[in-house]
Amino acid sequence: MKISAIVLSSGESERFGENKMLYSLAGEPIILKTVKAFDLSPSIDEIVVCIPSGSEESYREILKSVKTPLTFTTGGKNRHLSTIEGLLKANGDMVLIHDGARCFVAVELIERIVSALSEDTGVIPVIASTDSLVSVGDNLKYLERKNIKCVQTPQAFDRVKLLEIYKDCIASGKDLSNLTDNGSVWQTRYPLIYVDGDINNKKITYKSDCLLYTFSKKEVCEDLNNQGNSDIYLNDKLSNSGIRNSLKNLNSISLTDISTEKKEGITLKIGNGYDMHELVENRKLILGGVTMPHNKGLLGVSDADVVLHALMDALLSSLSLPDIGHQFPPTDPQYQGADSTVLLKTVLELLAERNAKPQSVSITILAQKPKLFPYIPLIKDSISTLLGVSIDNVGISATTTEGLGLIGREEGIACYATCIVKI
Ligand code: MG
Repeated sequence: MKISAIVLSSGESERFGENKMLYSLAGEPIILKTVKAFDLSPSIDEIVVCIPSGSEESYREILKSVKTPLTFTTGGKNRHLSTIEGLLKANGDMVLIHDGARCFVAVELIERIVSALSEDTGVIPVIASTDSLVSVGDNLKYLERKNIKCVQTPQAFDRVKLLEIYKDCIASGKDLSNLTDNGSVWQTRYPLIYVDGDINNKKITYKSDCLLYTFSKKEVCEDLNNQGNSDIYLNDKLSNSGIRNSLKNLNSISLTDISTEKKEGITLKIGNGYDMHELVENRKLILGGVTMPHNKGLLGVSDADVVLHALMDALLSSLSLPDIGHQFPPTDPQYQGADSTVLLKTVLELLAERNAKPQSVSITILAQKPKLFPYIPLIKDSISTLLGVSIDNVGISATTTEGLGLIGREEGIACYATCIVKI
């Protein structure tokens, strides 16, 4: 028996605000998390991903690490049309149809559903509702919670039979546009059984659902730490607990990382800084530690690197420390002609003494000339090296002031800097 997984990921993500399948959660796109679970499931022979029109190249790149045979098909404008496209593309005798936005699906759940499969019976995973439930027709009525379950995916069916049901529905003009799962369609002709779902198998619908994920990660951390700090003990303890399932979804975080993070009690601080210097002839122009050719340079007691000055003030501000005017008084002769990269090292030492480290920075440079665009990669590289942070965590934009004001008249260059510092 050949089994195909069909992952529906062609929705418009209207409530999320952007294509949620490509949204990075803990450093990994949601669609990759989802597909990886099926890739790791020993029972799955192929994976069909229903994607938005014209997006195959980007999806193929994101999913390039997947080992299971993978095909793409363009989804329809609603769920049932996407399902039909997937059923037509799949080759399996049986199919597991899954919401791409349920990226926490565990291999154990997939295998539990597969083990319950039979030719005539569809399989759906369900979990108990944690809320009280009411029906709100003419008479509001509380429902018996023990008989009510919440339905999840993946749901498993005989591929050809499900396709026939859909074709018949369409031929008879049945409105399926509000369909939210396939079990309800299957049940019009064949029996359904349920297996236990997984409370972690949540669906990402809103951006705030991603925050819930972060919160649940924190809960796992607390649970782990309450049980002791030994990784060996944790591993042993985890083998018989639901926490192991939760951890499978934390792809970018190892057990050691989690316990370390909790022990250190990480705090994030934000800081802002601003600086401006006069542009004059016969001075070097140095921005972010990079010297660039220009007929003018910035005037100051030090090398007048306006970018590093704004950045230093942002770093100091994040820890409520006095600004660079206090740290390096311009009246002190030792700072005459000072190299700002050396001053920055002193600021980083002040942070290190307080166990603080820069995490990310965002910088805006205001200059009419020179055109800074070609130099931005060099400045990013310089600041990333100076701070010891990934280049992906250094954001730099440059703007003119459209000829307005003293910057527009090329009398000066200014800079804003914002940083996040981890303690
Ligand atoms: Mg300055």
